[in-house]
Amino acid sequence: MQDERSRISDRRRHTRNRMYRYIYNAVTPVTKQQLANALGFSLPTVHQNIGELMEAGMIRPGEMQKSTGGRPAVGYTVNEKIRYSVGASVTSTSIRILLTDIRQNEIDCRTVPLLSPEGAKIGKQIAAELDRCLADHGIDDGMVLGVGITFPGVIDRRKNTIVLSPTLKMKDIALSEVAEPLRFPVFIENDSTCGGAAEWLGLSPEEKKEDFVYLYLENGIGGAVFINGRPYVGSNRRSGEFGHMCIRPDGPVCNCGKRGCLEAYCSSLRITRDLGISAETFMQEVRRGNEQYLAIWEDILLHLSIGIDNLRMAFDCSVILGGYMSRYLEPYLERLREMAAGRSPFETDGDYIRLGKYPSRAALMGVAWHFTNEFISGI
Ligand SMILES: [Zn+2]
Repeated sequence: MQDERSRISDRRRHTRNRMYRYIYNAVTPVTKQQLANALGFSLPTVHQNIGELMEAGMIRPGEMQKSTGGRPAVGYTVNEKIRYSVGASVTSTSIRILLTDIRQNEIDCRTVPLLSPEGAKIGKQIAAELDRCLADHGIDDGMVLGVGITFPGVIDRRKNTIVLSPTLKMKDIALSEVAEPLRFPVFIENDSTCGGAAEWLGLSPEEKKEDFVYLYLENGIGGAVFINGRPYVGSNRRSGEFGHMCIRPDGPVCNCGKRGCLEAYCSSLRITRDLGISAETFMQEVRRGNEQYLAIWEDILLHLSIGIDNLRMAFDCSVILGGYMSRYLEPYLERLREMAAGRSPFETDGDYIRLGKYPSRAALMGVAWHFTNEFISGI
């Protein structure tokens, strides 16, 4: 009897969840008739579930487009403000915090300088800034689903450890050190994996069927391999550490201590640390034809094309470029494609190289999505 009852309640939950997801994914409000037609449910079933979702505050009536005649039908859309998710990304210089509603709309996004690259201090700094952010928007703690935090480094959640972050000079840090100062559920993941997840979410249903490699160009360089919409993490959780792929054995010393890594050539640190100017100023100078900077930019593009071609050789799928530095690549994309294709005996063009949709906040969006997705799955 108990089994029978739990089966029925499972089925009811499944029905309600499918309806919520349909409404969530729809661009415009959805009528009961549309739900019945699209999901194959009877109108009484739709009616009952709409009632339950309305009562729980999950959905609300939405504005319908004007009908051509007769009585306008009532449409439903999700209540975006039912809960909020937080994404935070830690880099060698700053912490960025993104607050999103349930539809992943940005409510707030702020950047503060990183005070200290130590686990507990990072947790405290995120907690303090988040408090200010929630107070600014009048959001109570109970409305926050959780805080996702990304680090540029190898994260092993089975061992609850940041194994290594060459960019932050961190090694064997317990995730609990970072999470402890926060009074919300915390999820910690590699920045590139989260960036790739955000890009995957932004793909069309047709594009989602294809595997891709994500190359994340920031202060450091990371990456992720997405197969069937999921990151391939590897035996040691180090899959996609493309930044430390050796491009030239005799190249410059990298953050990791080895020579000639892709990161040593193509990360933004090559500009900000070595030249002492911002990437923005550097690119302005490149566009103005500053010969010294143009030569460096050409060298960055050259080594980037080598790295990308290597990834194409290894994975034979699209390569999506993301991260802070990728936003400067658009005017040079065709050139980069030609350079990469020219290195390969197999390619006639470099169309497999694409720019991500969210160059500056993919990691934040991806990690915030963790809690939003969990919430939607539980409806
Ligand atoms: Zn390296």
